[in-house]
Amino acid sequence: MLPEYLNQLFYLIGQAVVFLAAAVLLISVLIALLILYSFKTGNFFAARYMLLGIMLLEDVIKSLFWVARADDSMVDDVGVRLRNYINTKKFLETPYEKRFIFMPQCLRSVQCPAKLTPEGIMCIDCGRCGIGEAKKYAESLGYRFYVVPGSSFIKRIIKKGRPGAIVGVGCSMEIKEGLDLCHSHGIPARGVPLSTSGCVATSIDWEAFYEAIAEVPSTEKQGA
Ligand code: SF4
Repeated sequence: MLPEYLNQLFYLIGQAVVFLAAAVLLISVLIALLILYSFKTGNFFAARYMLLGIMLLEDVIKSLFWVARADDSMVDDVGVRLRNYINTKKFLETPYEKRFIFMPQCLRSVQCPAKLTPEGIMCIDCGRCGIGEAKKYAESLGYRFYVVPGSSFIKRIIKKGRPGAIVGVGCSMEIKEGLDLCHSHGIPARGVPLSTSGCVATSIDWEAFYEAIAEVPSTEKQGA
């Protein structure tokens, strides 16, 4: 037989655990509904709290999507859009010349003739994929443009070049990791997800990419 005070203690702990589990479930359901709303409308409600909720409760929220037979990639998609939205003001305060673009090498044509250099894979605009055109346009605005051979490359270039803002292209997982990396360096970043992921010959919505990079810095708007 346990003493009465221990019985009471276990009872209280049990109640606290049930209460906590119910609270986590309730908050997760609420965030899942907000994700659906944002996915369908493109609008965000309580963006920072929503992002915090996604970061802390991602697994529970994805399980809810799975139970409801809904596509849980919506969680990643909205997570990236939320981060982009929250970073917008600081991103736009950065002039083009201080912004870097990191493009994944998997977007290249399988017949890409570009060579690997210390500055990444050096696109020669051979016309076999959209990177050459994107590079020309981005550099005409003032961006520094890199085709990334591997993830350690980005860390090295951030350390060396100290960008004011970053646009990163990649699969949802790479973008999430990249945005977290930028956040840890205090760099406002924008992620542009690939339309089809994989190891080679992936694809991107180029219109979304050009839209993400072309937005005029707020400093230039004020000076106009
Ligand atoms: S445009 Fe550039 S990246 Fe694309 S295949 Fe040609 S050299 Fe490679």
